[in-house]
Amino acid sequence: MTRNIEEPVPAGVPATGRAPLVGMSLEAMRGMLAALGEPSYRAKQLYQWVYARRSPDFEGMTSLSHGLRERLATTHHLGRPEVGRAQSSADGTRKYLYKLPGGKAESVLMPEPRRVTFCISSQAGCALDCRFCLTALMGFGRHLTPGEIVGQVLTMLDDPAVGELPVNVVFMGMGEPLHNYDNVLEAYRLLIDQMGIGIPPRRVTLSTAGMVPGILRLAKEASRPRLAISLNATTDEIRDQIMPINRKHPIAELLGAAAAMPLGPRERVTLEYVMLEGVNAELVDARRLLGLVRKHDLRAKVNLIPFNPGGGLDYKAPPKEKIMAFHDLLQTAGLSCYTRKNRGRDISAACGQLAVLDGAASAKLDARRRGARPADAPTKPGGPGGDSRSGRGRVAKSKRPAPGRARRAGDRRRGK
Ligand code: SF4
Repeated sequence: MTRNIEEPVPAGVPATGRAPLVGMSLEAMRGMLAALGEPSYRAKQLYQWVYARRSPDFEGMTSLSHGLRERLATTHHLGRPEVGRAQSSADGTRKYLYKLPGGKAESVLMPEPRRVTFCISSQAGCALDCRFCLTALMGFGRHLTPGEIVGQVLTMLDDPAVGELPVNVVFMGMGEPLHNYDNVLEAYRLLIDQMGIGIPPRRVTLSTAGMVPGILRLAKEASRPRLAISLNATTDEIRDQIMPINRKHPIAELLGAAAAMPLGPRERVTLEYVMLEGVNAELVDARRLLGLVRKHDLRAKVNLIPFNPGGGLDYKAPPKEKIMAFHDLLQTAGLSCYTRKNRGRDISAACGQLAVLDGAASAKLDARRRGARPADAPTKPGGPGGDSRSGRGRVAKSKRPAPGRARRAGDRRRGK
């Protein structure tokens, strides 16, 4: 049975004129406290109160002097993203919709018997316009700050469902994380810091739709999240249509970049594959997927994700037998494959569903249905290829001409 829960706003909601502590690095806290004449060990104490102990207020930070607590309360706040709405599903999935200044974002908590997974957002909305994704209908709002990204995790860590379970974090909610590279990497460093939040690096995964320059940059980081590629098609013809980023960075370039990622001894790149009936779910697609992995000598595993219906998109999931046949073909050929259970269907827990169901995107959906070509539509500043810190974005032109007037991928495959 579904419960709709009106969540209380978390303690420490951002207050005008005070600076956020969530999102601040230890180094930045040192500088801030040094300016107040405090010794450097105070920074470590404050950092641990914010991230390791998740103190909701300054009053409880008892290892700090009373005077410092009072002073900090006038200059800083401990606010996390304001929870506008949260829902719980019969299967235990919890979904949070955040009201942010100038946008909204969401995160999903998925408890399992031996772990809990947090799916978090990196942007309010998204510029990439994948055709099977509801977030795409919102368009691009803005990049989330490191504090807003980390704040989602802190909020969910306080959820009683987490308990002592190990936590996995996946950047797979709203937004393309590599489009907001600097803020996402800064948030990642805060998430894995063992002195603070302390999530093991191997438990953090970043999923990209295919921003190749970001993948190449990630490969040079001393510490980075695990890489997942949202692939979803095995030919450029199909991928061009369901993921317009493919016109800029086609499959060969994308998988080439993924294969060049230096991997740890037991690490593999995850290939996510949203299964769409009539588009990408035939055995011929499975064989091509296998061929691509072999051709690029990619150490990979595959996550099959049956399309989660809802929100008005004109796609549906393939029948169970088809998904199993696809899965078995890959597994039998030696490519490790996992078919994800659809979680939280009763609370519309697929990416963007909660926000879109609030009514944000029906105009764009109508335009698509009238046959408009979203990939060619003007995109706001801050689009892919832009500077994630400044927000001065630029939409890169396609290397290849866009296919002719957009037809649904399924139509083309059915030869219409
Ligand atoms: S699938 Fe991801 S990258 Fe594509 S539009 Fe949705 S949020 Fe953006």
